[in-house]
Amino acid sequence: MSRTDPVSQESRGAQRPRVVIVGCGFAGIEAVRILSKADVEITLVDRTNHHLFQPLLYQVATAGLSAPAISGPIRHILRSEMQRGNLTVLLGEVTAIDAAGRSVELDHGAERLSYEHLIVAAGATHSYFGHDEWAAHAPGLKTLADAFDIRRRVLLAFERAERKPEGPHRQACLTFAVVGAGPTGVEMAGMMAEIAHHTLPDEFRRIDSRRARVVLVEGGPRVLSAFPEKLSTRALEQLRTLGIEVLTSAKVTEIDAEGLTYQDGDGTSRRLEAKTVVWAAGVAASPLGRALSQSTGCSLDRAGRVIVEPDLSVPGHPEIQVVGDLAAALSHGGKGPPAPVPGVSPAAKQMGRTAAGNLLRRLQGEKTESFHYADYGNLATIGRSSAIADVEVPVLGRLRFSGMAAWLFWLFVHIYFLIGFRNRMVVLSDWAWAYFSFERQARVVAEVDKRRAAAAGGDA
Ligand SMILES: Cc1cc2nc3c(=O)[nH]c(=O)nc-3n(C[C@H](O)[C@H](O)[C@H](O)COP(=O)(O)OP(=O)(O)OC[C@H]3O[C@@H](n4cnc5c(N)ncnc54)[C@H](O)[C@@H]3O)c2cc1C
Repeated sequence: MSRTDPVSQESRGAQRPRVVIVGCGFAGIEAVRILSKADVEITLVDRTNHHLFQPLLYQVATAGLSAPAISGPIRHILRSEMQRGNLTVLLGEVTAIDAAGRSVELDHGAERLSYEHLIVAAGATHSYFGHDEWAAHAPGLKTLADAFDIRRRVLLAFERAERKPEGPHRQACLTFAVVGAGPTGVEMAGMMAEIAHHTLPDEFRRIDSRRARVVLVEGGPRVLSAFPEKLSTRALEQLRTLGIEVLTSAKVTEIDAEGLTYQDGDGTSRRLEAKTVVWAAGVAASPLGRALSQSTGCSLDRAGRVIVEPDLSVPGHPEIQVVGDLAAALSHGGKGPPAPVPGVSPAAKQMGRTAAGNLLRRLQGEKTESFHYADYGNLATIGRSSAIADVEVPVLGRLRFSGMAAWLFWLFVHIYFLIGFRNRMVVLSDWAWAYFSFERQARVVAEVDKRRAAAAGGDA
């Protein structure tokens, strides 16, 4: 079909099964790629205009990479799929789902899209464990906007410290707390330490940035608890070598503008004065999980994820599939009993592909397949030249290693999975430059014009 013939495209589209896909993250994009090759009419809706490679978001939050290096406009990434003439991309937020009427609502009723098949891939958001008031003082890291916010706070904290006289106020500006020692928290802490100890020391006159404290606060007994204990201990050693203070079994009970309060392992309440606090502790499913539950009666798990059938459909609604971080899915067909699927990008991509395949099977009147997660392992980087790896390598089996070798492996994997040749080149050259110079490329912070921001409803 010709690209220059939109009218015939539209009339042809009216005869095809209508598929709506919500979210163009790791899961959604995989589903689009497969379905665009089939005789279906797809509408992809995302509330942002870009696809984001979240595993490198902490690099934007710590000024190591600029935003376009780890993201790309959806229309551009999917330009060859759009050439096929059956894909429409809409910028908008899905705010409600009407399963009985088979439609989704955009932007609180501005528009309604009807579907015959729906794939919901809206991902996850932060959870403050019932303390949403902490969000104002301790931003989490999920979107580019979050990364810009954290970058601003980190860089401006050093500027504020330069203007304060020697004393507790200056030290509070130079204290950075990261709550949660999962991969994101560990990565953030590692980069903050690098900024303080290597990037900034020659650039300030009144303060010595090397006196900054980076404190990683973890509620559980060890860091990177998803890894085997031995690797977690290696990670702890590497964090301490970087000068990071690690508090384990420290449960945060309060966060405010001046810092945080936590209860240590003995039950004693302690205070940490820190002007910059980053939240990397809790994940909750997208609110669309609740919307689906209200509309279909499906059950949610504790994190608000939709408990799906083995083939990723919503119980009682084979026409709706939920994939990625929003799905509480089990992996079937492995050696043992069905096992929970982790919230990681390979799992999201695999679910997107399974959902697309099952949709096509349904259209052909065939039986759907249960989801099987191929687990290739876990990686976490801790700072420059330092990482831990617990990976499945064909022929060699399970390999567990740490240090420089793990870091090089981590680097290769992340470059490989980035979308777009240009992004790979930009990231590689920025990292190579930073490795030798300790410079961080993206330290320019735009000032906010408060009047314009207010007039634009906070959007400027
Ligand atoms: C900081 C960070 C670091 C991470 N590091 C790693 C890592 O190193 N390795 C790894 O494997 N995984 C990592 N993850 C997890 C991984 O990114 C997720 O598992 C993966 O992104 C899930 O894919 P998804 O498609 O379900 O959701 P997402 O990729 O989050 O995509 C969801 C999409 O839906 C859109 N959307 C959401 N709500 C709506 C709505 N109502 N209407 C329209 N559009 C909507 C969003 O804009 C987004 O584009 C990390 C996550 C974060 C946040």
